Amino acid sequence: MPTNLSSFKFCPNCKSENISSQNGHKHLCAECQFEYFHNTAAAVAAIICCDDEILLTVRAKDPEKGQLDLPGGFVDHNESLEQALSRELKEELAADIVNWQYFYSGANTYHYKDLLYHTCDVVFVSYLTEKPKLNADVAEIAGYQWIKISEFDTSRIAFASLRKAIDQFIKSQA
Ligand SMILES: [Zn+2]
Repeated sequence: MPTNLSSFKFCPNCKSENISSQNGHKHLCAECQFEYFHNTAAAVAAIICCDDEILLTVRAKDPEKGQLDLPGGFVDHNESLEQALSRELKEELAADIVNWQYFYSGANTYHYKDLLYHTCDVVFVSYLTEKPKLNADVAEIAGYQWIKISEFDTSRIAFASLRKAIDQFIKSQA
């Protein structure tokens, strides 16, 4: 995989080809001094736990289409992490969940349409006493599954950072 997918070919400001990047992060145009920082994006994910099961979604899109995932997504402008999570749960599963406990964070990369995004995935846990009525939005996810923690093969999780979070969660429940 190319390591510098976030490089510009031309300066977005003056169209010069004299633009360079440092580690794919800071971009500087030598002609007009335009600077752009391709910063780490915040992303959130939810471990929703009910009795001895957790809720997984099935990815509808690439990257990692068909693999298991946690509900969640990128944080929008002007949103808190918790607000982003509640919004994603509403969009993906029509679920109203507002009680979140911070659990884990980890660096991740997300390769989408020839661009490499660096994210910091922040994982929150919500413990439910009964399973909510869910309705998967097929434009967002291919479906969802409740999986028993004791029977869960975490290699089915699309992203390494989330796999790590779930492994830690399962250990914490033992
Ligand atoms: Zn320029």
